[in-house]
Order: sequence, then structure tokens, then C-alpha cells
Amino acid sequence: MNKSRQLYEGKAKKVFLTEEDKELVIQEFKDDATAFNNKKKGTIAEKGVVNNAISCKLFTLLEANGIRTHLVEKLSDRDMLCRYLDIIKVEVVVRNIAAGSLVKRYGFKEGTVLEKPIVEFYLKDDDLDDPLMNESHAVALGVATLEELAILKNRAEAINAVLSKFFAERKLKLVDFKLEFGRHNGEILLGDEISPDTCRFWDLETNEKMDKDRFRFDLGGVEDAYSEVQRRVLDFD
Ligand code: UDP
Repeated sequence: MNKSRQLYEGKAKKVFLTEEDKELVIQEFKDDATAFNNKKKGTIAEKGVVNNAISCKLFTLLEANGIRTHLVEKLSDRDMLCRYLDIIKVEVVVRNIAAGSLVKRYGFKEGTVLEKPIVEFYLKDDDLDDPLMNESHAVALGVATLEELAILKNRAEAINAVLSKFFAERKLKLVDFKLEFGRHNGEILLGDEISPDTCRFWDLETNEKMDKDRFRFDLGGVEDAYSEVQRRVLDFD
């Protein structure tokens, strides 16, 4: 598979059409990192390679557990071959432990284990700072139907169950994470990536942060944390 026209360049990835098949695209993972809706910018050495490897492994795991994703195959260090998706403009966040905006918005104490996972919807719109929204907002905005939102919530909960178990076995707490979905031939597939850019991981024993919070809050050791997550995800079996 070869890249043809670039469809899109985002904060962490570029997406290309393929020469061979209009149903397939190539996601190229970059080392660029942004936080706080682009207000903080930088690079994390080899992040693209690490996030591609982690994402491919996790999508393969999800597929093995009956959850359809856009992954076709890992093409190279930085390139993932994917099914073309009509991206649903809803970011689905799942939370197991209070952190980040849940702490800021609702006053939870950071680290509080939630009795039941919380699923939240955000409008995927950088110009509006990705506002939190409920089902009525999403329907009124025309970004998804009620039926689709119910599927996203169910799918997010199923993904959380698979991933939480997987990470616990690797001595990582899956604190929270963000998912994106898209439509493909009448089906809803999981898209985007699952990586330390889009998840919070805390070491099971020390609670050390091992994700993009190290970059967001200048905690140091960013590259080491990403490669340690990669090691636990890929070198475990
Ligand atoms: N997240 C993400 N992209 C976003 C917003 C959030 O990947 O645009 C992830 C984030 O890394 C964390 C989870 O979703 O794992 C919940 O993020 P939160 O709402 O706490 O917001 P943040 O603290 O990132 O502003």
C-alpha cells in the first residue's frame, strides 16, 4: 500500500489516501505533541513509533474480543493501514478514576476510584474547545443520532472492560481515556488511536503518571514513560 494525497493533518497524525483502494487510508503517527487545546506545543522523541505500536496492539486485542476497529494492519514503524471512516464528531471519554477535567469540573479528589465508570461525550470541535455535551446537544447539533450515541456508550464500556483487565495484568491502572468512532459501510467502527496521548495510565504500585500528563505538566521523563508503557503492552506475552 502506498500513500497518495494527504487528506488531513492533525495534531499528532497525518492521514493519507492510498493509491490502491479508496476504502483504505494510512494514518502516520508524528512526534508532535500538543496540550490544552494547542496552547502548549512540543515534540516527544519517537512518540509516533511508540503510539503506532501500542495502538496497533490494542486494536488487535479489541478485534480479538469482538470489537470492530478501523485497523487493517501495521504497515511500518509510523504507518497504520486503516479503513476509511466518516468520523463521528463526538469524543467519548471513559473514566475509572478521577483525574483531569473531572477533578476540575466537579471537585472529585484526584485518585478517587469511581464506583461505576463514567462515560462522557464531548463535541469534537477545536474552535469551541471540545465542550462537554449530553445526548440532546449531540442530536440537536446533528453530529449523531440517539441510536448511534447508545452504540458509542455500549461500545466504550465494552472497550473499557477489555482494556482495564489488559492493563491491570501489566501493572498499570487505566485511569481514563478518549475514543473516537466513525461510520464505515453502515457500521460503526472504533477509529483514531489508543495510546499514552489519549489515556491516563498510573503505575499500579506507585501511582506514577505514565502518560501525556508528564508533558502537560512538565513532570520530566516523558519519553521514558511512553517507552515503558510500550514495553509493558508489547513485551508482556
Ligand atoms: N483526551 C484526549 N483528547 C482530548 C481530551 C481528552 O485524548 O482532546 C483524553 C485525556 O488524555 C484523558 C481523557 O481523555 O486520558 C480525559 O481527559 P480530561 O477530560 O480529563 O481532559 P484533559 O485533562 O485532557 O484536559
